[in-house]
Amino acid sequence: MKLGVVWFKRDLRVFDHAPLVEAVRHREVLPLYVYEPELIRAPDYSVQHLNFVNECLTDLDQALSARGSPLVVQFGEITHVLKRVLDTYGPFALYSHEETGNAISYARDKRVAEWCRVHGIAWQEFPSNGVVRRLASRDDWAAIWMERMRQPALAAPDFIGAPKTPLLPAGLLRPSSLGMQGTDKPLRQPGGRKLASQQVRQFFSKHLHEYRYAMSSPLTAADACSRLSPHLAYGVLSIRELMHKVWKTRSEFLAMPEPVRPKDALAGLKSFESRLHWHCHFIQKLESEPEIEECNVHRGFDGLREPHFNREHFERWCAGETGFPLIDACMKMLAQTGWINFRMRALLVSFSSYQLWNHWREPALHLAREFLDYEPGIHYPQIQMQSGVTGINTLRIYNPVKQAQDQDPEGVFVKRWVPALQNVPVAYIFEPWTMPEGLQQSTGVLLGEHYPMPIVDHLEAARHARDTLWGMRKDPSVRAEAKQVFNKHGSRNPLREGRPRKTASTKKHVVASNDLLSEVIAATEARTSDTDIDTSTDTGSSNSNNNSNNNSEIRTETRTDIISEIGNDISDDSGNTRTPRKRSRAKAPASPSAVPGTAPASPPSATPTSDSTSAPKPTPPAPPAPDTPPPQLSLGFD
Ligand SMILES: Cc1cc2nc3c(=O)[nH]c(=O)nc-3n(C[C@H](O)[C@H](O)[C@H](O)COP(=O)(O)OP(=O)(O)OC[C@H]3O[C@@H](n4cnc5c(N)ncnc54)[C@H](O)[C@@H]3O)c2cc1C
Repeated sequence: MKLGVVWFKRDLRVFDHAPLVEAVRHREVLPLYVYEPELIRAPDYSVQHLNFVNECLTDLDQALSARGSPLVVQFGEITHVLKRVLDTYGPFALYSHEETGNAISYARDKRVAEWCRVHGIAWQEFPSNGVVRRLASRDDWAAIWMERMRQPALAAPDFIGAPKTPLLPAGLLRPSSLGMQGTDKPLRQPGGRKLASQQVRQFFSKHLHEYRYAMSSPLTAADACSRLSPHLAYGVLSIRELMHKVWKTRSEFLAMPEPVRPKDALAGLKSFESRLHWHCHFIQKLESEPEIEECNVHRGFDGLREPHFNREHFERWCAGETGFPLIDACMKMLAQTGWINFRMRALLVSFSSYQLWNHWREPALHLAREFLDYEPGIHYPQIQMQSGVTGINTLRIYNPVKQAQDQDPEGVFVKRWVPALQNVPVAYIFEPWTMPEGLQQSTGVLLGEHYPMPIVDHLEAARHARDTLWGMRKDPSVRAEAKQVFNKHGSRNPLREGRPRKTASTKKHVVASNDLLSEVIAATEARTSDTDIDTSTDTGSSNSNNNSNNNSEIRTETRTDIISEIGNDISDDSGNTRTPRKRSRAKAPASPSAVPGTAPASPPSATPTSDSTSAPKPTPPAPPAPDTPPPQLSLGFD
């Protein structure tokens, strides 16, 4: 076959791109990107996404043109576009990455498969990352993930032959010409491989040491986190490229003499590595059960909130007008930048689900449009976890006042994003509704006029949520289904989450994972030297309890901080963030700039091992030895 067509979707790069490498065996290669009207008009898509994609396409086109075959951009239903290609060039072979997208792309892929079958076109799909299509058992997943990561990332082809005939019309389209409503976000991250590579370099060289300590507060997270999420969501970078970067960096650190070895950076590297693993761990859930884009992971929670949906509360939550300063500031920042850190995302969803008692689906769509890094496979499982409807995770109901006190103690973040509160003294910034009338007059901040009164009694609402859910989780049928959920989606691998193994000194706190809802036995923590208590236990190690560290922050906090934690979670997808003890309070001012950079970390020794569950585990392949740089290729950011 003379022509190979490479269909680019959410894989906008030439490095580590298996379909492209395979297609260059053909004499002519047509690199194709298609604006698909169905996806563009979907309720989870927004102007910022399209503009970001266009920036990525510009870089992609440069990279492809430099190799001989420029990018061809088309608009239309994909099978119509493929028909156009067929009519222009005759039979071809089609190459692409597998996509774990939304219901629309899922249905679209089925149509493409059928079209190819009818027209005799061979369509070869390649895994995108560590997500496994038609995964037989979750028990096998971590080993497969590691096996894939260990493979060398693929070099970009040197030369790509172009077809002789052009395919017209072609070219980038603006949101307005595609009929999209809305505006772009003024402070969002720009897209493209060049900037992504720059961001990788910056994070690895400047921010690893502070990553774990600064990721929880919205004041510091924008600078300290890697900010690689949109680049990963659109495949400008591959997870494998980053894993190799992590391993190489770790080798370099470990080669340093002990006294000068950057220990915090090593620990940061490990936390970052865990998150790269979670990235795929979460997407695997949607891949294995596409229905969870719309249905509760645990169907026993169906009907819980749906009839109570309060549209006015929802709209005020979207607009950042709830009367809770931290919630409102987060929403305002999101509206301007398209990004907020993990803990604040969890807080926003917790508030919507518990204090406002709104079902998660519409809030999820709003956040999908707001998050530049919207990745359906991470988004829906996270939203559901933070809403308490998975049945396998600890329920964490955050107190929006206490979170503000902890994460923004001087109110700097709140005042930056909610200027109406500028003159409110710190003593009242977390609960402005408690300001005496005289103070309201003298500061010029009249509650109900310049800033809203709180839309709910948050403590009372949280109590109601806790009692309702606690009651449900005790129901035997809910418990029985939770076990099935765990079998399908729960992580079997605590180590890869960067959690220290239990040691003899760690008091048992473990619920056997096949005894899913048994009571937690004891809970004293024995801190190992760990570090990676840090952040998100949102990954999936089984049993929130099996790592005492996970819960450390909660236990040390009062019940008004996280109002309620209903436990015995089974899986480890507990989904909460923890700040390492070392520096638990936010200090640095938040930067409103959209693209500060930092980087990730991971231990080459973090071989995913399955944890507690019963099934026989495949032997995980050995990761590269710490002092052996993995096979390398020329990556854009090396
Ligand atoms: C309700 C909710 C919705 C979310 N929706 C998305 C989403 O649509 N897209 C998305 O990329 N992330 C999502 N996350 C996860 C997380 O908040 C973001 O990945 C992170 O904030 C992105 O910033 P970063 O790149 O600086 O992250 P870093 O902390 O630097 O992490 C590096 C990378 O690891 C991955 N990662 C980090 N945290 C997680 C996590 N908890 N679960 C899975 N992968 C993770 C991301 O790819 C991220 O880019 C969501 C979290 C919550 C609580």
